[in-house]
Amino acid sequence: MRVAIASFVDETMTFLPEPTTEERFETGTRRGQAVVDENRGIPVYINGFVKELERAGAEIVPIVEARKGPGPFSGWVTRSCFEKYAGEITEGLRGSGNLDGVLLALHGAMAVSGVPRPEAEICRRVRAVVGDIPIMVTLDLHANEDHELTDAADAVFILKTYPHVDSEETGEIAGRCMVETIRGNFHPVQVCKKPGLIIASIYQASEHYPMKVIYDRCREWETKPGVYCASCAPGFAYADVPDVGMSVIVVADGDAELARQAADDISALAWSLRDDFSTPLPNPKDAVGQVMQMVSEGKKPVAIADGADRIGDSTHILKELIAQGATNWAVPGINDPRAAKYLEENARTGDTVTVRIGGWYGPLSGEPVEITGTVEFMGRPSYRLVGPMRKGALVQDKFVARINLGRNRHVVVSETTRGCNDASGMTSVGIDVSTLDIIPLKSRVHHRAYWDSVAKVNFPVDAPGYLEIPNLRTLHFENIPDDIYPIGKRWKTEANTR
Ligand SMILES: [Zn+2]
Repeated sequence: MRVAIASFVDETMTFLPEPTTEERFETGTRRGQAVVDENRGIPVYINGFVKELERAGAEIVPIVEARKGPGPFSGWVTRSCFEKYAGEITEGLRGSGNLDGVLLALHGAMAVSGVPRPEAEICRRVRAVVGDIPIMVTLDLHANEDHELTDAADAVFILKTYPHVDSEETGEIAGRCMVETIRGNFHPVQVCKKPGLIIASIYQASEHYPMKVIYDRCREWETKPGVYCASCAPGFAYADVPDVGMSVIVVADGDAELARQAADDISALAWSLRDDFSTPLPNPKDAVGQVMQMVSEGKKPVAIADGADRIGDSTHILKELIAQGATNWAVPGINDPRAAKYLEENARTGDTVTVRIGGWYGPLSGEPVEITGTVEFMGRPSYRLVGPMRKGALVQDKFVARINLGRNRHVVVSETTRGCNDASGMTSVGIDVSTLDIIPLKSRVHHRAYWDSVAKVNFPVDAPGYLEIPNLRTLHFENIPDDIYPIGKRWKTEANTR
């Protein structure tokens, strides 16, 4: 048994002006045996494929794993970038001799200029090379897909957790299906159904209502004989593409009617919950006021989730924390390369400094905020993640400086975007997390894998920003379906005439 594996992933935010080019991908891409070796033991899709294939005694034929390396935020993937890596996959397969199957780890939210459904296009090109052998695909749950993908591939499997902690498991589900299909013990049939919903990321947490209700139903279907995998991707709303929004995909063993029933049922359930995917969230001013009230009542610490600020320079929450006199908080990262450079060149630990930070990317990030305080940490810390997501992975920060504003208020100024999905980024710069009442994070959902176990309350806010804002009505879409709820033209018109 010989099975090829390849990967080409991107979650493309099409509202950003700069294109994503092959230069950006080249720094993150692996080829050949490195695709297996460098994923081994890490909880990712490819490790799941490898485990199942090795268990079956199959020969693994690794082709390429194309993904972006670190770099500035960028939007649409260029056509030439897509052609380069899609071409590497097909050329690699063409030169691989006889194969029994192909496993593809894709994402589902890649957006390519001039290629409307890139993942389906990849599968069609793979099919043209390998012919009638099983092609199976794994996707992130931020995937935007429709029947074109399920028409092109034999089976499609999607994560069920956000925060994403089942990537390896999803790889194993796909790998097992591949092995049993090649052995003739399984006959994959699948159905894709689009409920017609577009959902901001901050409402998609898998362990919480409403998504939890949908995943519980998926798992219920999976207990029925014949249903192998029932998936639901809430989708990635920040890609202006025709197949945007939620997709339900059900893979069954030989019984297309059963797959259809399950997909219809899950899709109808999602539609019935549609208005609970866009409940309004408070603005920064109201949010900070409400959080301070909670703290005064002893409901603390509170994690504030500012999901719109994936760039990390936004100052809306910081400004309110200072203006409203909140204490015992730490902002783990305000991305500001200029302020970071100034501090590195002009300040020393122990100095009192005044700097203007943040708000440089554009007006939606808010005005820069002037802070005065004592520099208590400067440097480039390296540390290992301690939360369930990528636990143990080594992080090497670029330059950061922690400034203590007094009354246990801390701001970390960082040279680049700095995630803080667990406490390691804070402790690495000397913050005692146990003393904090308010933990303002620039995250939508991933932080919850760790911070839900620390914070009494998770408090999402609707702050302005450039990426992954909660209120999709403020984005200018051109390519999405007219009937997609709640922001398609049809619904806008109905709301206006009501
Ligand atoms: Zn995702």
